[in-house]
Amino acid sequence: MIFCERCGGMVIPKNDGSRTKLVCSSCGYASKEKKESLVLKEKVKPKEKIEVVEKKVEILPKVDQECPKCKNKKAFFWQLQTRAADEAETTFYKCTKCGHTWRMY
Ligand SMILES: [Zn+2]
Ligand SMILES: [Zn+2]
Repeated sequence: MIFCERCGGMVIPKNDGSRTKLVCSSCGYASKEKKESLVLKEKVKPKEKIEVVEKKVEILPKVDQECPKCKNKKAFFWQLQTRAADEAETTFYKCTKCGHTWRMY
């Protein structure tokens, strides 16, 4: 289910010739055509800048990845090249919250 980004009403697909537009059923606002569903932007409070970085993992870049364990939306990631040349590099994720680590090909 998609909700209107303007009023929060229900968005229904409407056929407009060859294209399908997503139009809000209550205010008529047509959201931009997107294949992916609306991404909810998390309001992240700025962390304190003075933070002693002890663990190496904390300097890894963070991405929007849902932890399969605790459903936290942020994870560190890094990539490793496997030995076999025909294999793609493996991406590892580590949850910023619970520390759960998983990988993706
Ligand atoms: Zn609306
Ligand atoms: Zn987690």
